[in-house]
Amino acid sequence: DEGEDFWPKRYAIWGRLVAKQPQQIAYSIIDSKAIGRFMPPVFAGVKANSIQELAEKIGLDAKTLCHTVDEFNRACVKGTFNHTVLDDCTTQNIVPNKTHWAVPLDRPPFYAYALKPGITFTYLGLKVEDDAAVRFNNKASRNLFVAGEMMAGNVLGQGYTAGVGMSIGTTFGRIAGKNAARYALSQGVEHEC
Ligand SMILES: Cc1cc2nc3c(=O)[nH]c(=O)nc-3n(C[C@H](O)[C@H](O)[C@H](O)COP(=O)(O)OP(=O)(O)OC[C@H]3O[C@@H](n4cnc5c(N)ncnc54)[C@H](O)[C@@H]3O)c2cc1C
Repeated sequence: DEGEDFWPKRYAIWGRLVAKQPQQIAYSIIDSKAIGRFMPPVFAGVKANSIQELAEKIGLDAKTLCHTVDEFNRACVKGTFNHTVLDDCTTQNIVPNKTHWAVPLDRPPFYAYALKPGITFTYLGLKVEDDAAVRFNNKASRNLFVAGEMMAGNVLGQGYTAGVGMSIGTTFGRIAGKNAARYALSQGVEHEC
């Protein structure tokens, strides 16, 4: 369900779904009504004047794609479209239903954007507690501290919400830096700046 919630809460889930597709590729298809309603994509996408032409350009079976889009368009229930709220534009009687922002793809030109999964987190890393000191056999190291990606598994067991990566890096970066500096000072290391 592409319309279940706003994208920052959903994109990690989409990534996993795309990874399960043949050749790990999916296409996001929009019509010209959608232009300007979302962040400008980094890539230009593939443009065509009909769904049939779009299918041919991206190498999908044209008959199947036309059927899928027709079915989706017919399932759209008219509502008041508003991409800034969870609006009442839904589909009915298709699986899965799109629960918000469902409007027919009917105004050319049409665009397709290829979606492919990437790795944001491995969910693995060095074990820490809230002091950012690395644990060896559950014992805190005196002089090895870690932050960010290298300890993300301590915070995130699975899933992701937008901003967590930077938050972990910033928060634990500060803690790790402070504790590393404290250790260095305790060893008589001089300030250089
Ligand atoms: C596609 C993508 C989108 C993302 N979007 C978001 C987002 O919207 N919001 C968010 O909060 N987070 C996001 N993240 C996660 C976030 O970018 C990372 O969590 C964060 O950048 C990690 O910072 P870091 O300093 O821990 O690690 P990194 O940025 O990976 O830094 C590690 C550094 O160590 C260097 N290095 C590695 N090995 C060595 C070595 N042997 N010697 C010297 N240097 C070495 C690397 O070159 C690298 O520069 C995203 C990640 C990806 C991949």
